[in-house]
Amino acid sequence: MTSALGDHFGDMEPLPYDYSPLALSIPYMLPASTGILIVGAGPAGLTCAITLALSGCNDITIVDAQPAGLNLSRAIVIHAQTIEELDGIGCREPLTARGIHAKYMSIQARQKKLFRANFCNLAGKTRFPYALLISQSETERTLEERLNGLGVTVHRPYKLVGMTKLPDGIKVTFESGEEIQARYVVGADGARSMIRKLAGIVFRDPATHKDPFAEQPRPGESYKKENARLGRSIVIADVHLSGEIPPCISSNDLSTFLGPLGFLLLVPLPPREDDPEQRIVYRMSCPTEPGTKEVSKERLQRVLKAGLGLKDVETPVVDTILWSSRFRIRSAVADKFYQSFGGGAIALVGDAAHVHSPAGGQGMNLGIRDAIALGKTLHEITENDKLQTPTAAAKQAYAIQRLDAFSKQRREMAIAVIKMTKVMTWLSGLESPVARRLRDTFWRLMGKVDTVNDKFALSLSGLQLKA
Ligand SMILES: Cc1cc2nc3c(=O)[nH]c(=O)nc-3n(C[C@H](O)[C@H](O)[C@H](O)COP(=O)(O)OP(=O)(O)OC[C@H]3O[C@@H](n4cnc5c(N)ncnc54)[C@H](O)[C@@H]3O)c2cc1C
Repeated sequence: MTSALGDHFGDMEPLPYDYSPLALSIPYMLPASTGILIVGAGPAGLTCAITLALSGCNDITIVDAQPAGLNLSRAIVIHAQTIEELDGIGCREPLTARGIHAKYMSIQARQKKLFRANFCNLAGKTRFPYALLISQSETERTLEERLNGLGVTVHRPYKLVGMTKLPDGIKVTFESGEEIQARYVVGADGARSMIRKLAGIVFRDPATHKDPFAEQPRPGESYKKENARLGRSIVIADVHLSGEIPPCISSNDLSTFLGPLGFLLLVPLPPREDDPEQRIVYRMSCPTEPGTKEVSKERLQRVLKAGLGLKDVETPVVDTILWSSRFRIRSAVADKFYQSFGGGAIALVGDAAHVHSPAGGQGMNLGIRDAIALGKTLHEITENDKLQTPTAAAKQAYAIQRLDAFSKQRREMAIAVIKMTKVMTWLSGLESPVARRLRDTFWRLMGKVDTVNDKFALSLSGLQLKA
């Protein structure tokens, strides 16, 4: 029997799922069924689980393919709106206590400051007028500890490999052969989301309409053509610097240097807890070297010298590479962030729903905020599901309306972030000397206008995207 609402959720008579605290009582055993299954315990999945657990929605299960949390640095900035929202779910304090509170993000070229976004000027709009510099591994650890404190444990390693439509929900199959039945499945499984694929949700660049992950490198293709077709390849490396640190390298703020080898982003991070000398870690980010896949100290040293525009003797030395990775800048957004699936529904958050350039450090921020919005939405839906009076069709209609509103609102925000980060990436990648001079003049002129500086800080902070 198909309801008047078409096949959005199929027919949903009595709920087979028990939205009760009992579901949390055996932490390590995967239950046979769950109200909400969250797949992926990165920042987005963990945040969604915390939001649900805090709202009293206890019939949740969270799984991850990895045997342990990833200990990778990756995203390094948490912006004001995200700090506000993390505060609301009791996750802010350990992060703001440990991270560096950056007041400025500056753009410099040829030893001159061109532009400076001042986060302090956000003071009237937020209790946290700064950008918090801390590595993603520490953010994830804080989130997982908070979730554990609420009585929820991540089930690992459980890699989702299949989803089957059931009349009253979704059957999920893991690589181990185990299965779980869920009413709602949250796809927090990252940029190459299996859930997105299995649900048939299109993922594409909003401007070119191409799926950036569908493209493959071609043998013999030039570096320039490959970058243009697949997205620019950049290096990120967390390093220790030795030697005298010149005043242009801030130990508190984010700095971008525009130079002959392209851009260099230099961001200080708190010393590692296991470092007896408690040295500042610097995140370096720059274009990869044409023709090589290695991230070498020599290359980073050359980029540092070119970016700072100093003589060899004045340039600090890249002493140790603590962690490094190559990253291709891709932009894409899911056509929709939710999809009915049999008698249930799936919803996407974080990188599963959108990817973009790391310029401005927006990715993880947007994902965490998506996750809080989805957690609240799913709480409202499951509360409505528990009511006696509405018919099954009315409950379906409510769920569809709430998930649709979530999807439209978050997608709009993702598209705005993609547009902003594309412009920043394009400007930082200009190659011809004339275009670079014009760009530097543009930044210098913009930097003289306080309202422009403030607007830029506001855009990065996420406060203007407040739901
Ligand atoms: C190398 C690298 C560098 C980056 N640098 C920056 C940066 O400098 N600044 C910035 O803002 N952002 C950066 N990012 C992006 C940032 O890390 C992401 O935006 C953020 O991690 C997204 O969080 P997420 O929870 O949506 O996804 P993820 O962190 O990707 O987490 C997804 C989780 O899902 C799990 N999973 C995947 N598939 C399955 C499956 N089939 N079954 C079960 N579990 C599954 C994974 O194990 C993982 O734990 C970087 C990303 C990478 C890869």
